[in-house]
Amino acid sequence: MGNYKYITNRILKNKAEEEKGFLKTRVPNDSDIAEGMYKCPECENQGKINQEWKRPFSVRCEKCNFLMRISKLKDEIKKEKAKEKLKKKNSQ
Ligand SMILES: [Zn+2]
Repeated sequence: MGNYKYITNRILKNKAEEEKGFLKTRVPNDSDIAEGMYKCPECENQGKINQEWKRPFSVRCEKCNFLMRISKLKDEIKKEKAKEKLKKKNSQ
């Protein structure tokens, strides 16, 4: 393991909310280039990531042009919690 200032490994959902893809990326301490790989949740194309690191980070599928966004984990947890609340409400 080297030294990275950022590492992430996310499951990606397509427009139908199915978990069909993923995105793995890491940024070395001494560079601003994010490297890694992705699987597009829309068309299941797999590709390499090698682009400038910035937040919010997003990668465009080179085959179907689907935009894969990396949201902050905190925001994602919030979203999930909001969804759960909604589910509970609807089932009562
Ligand atoms: Zn795609």
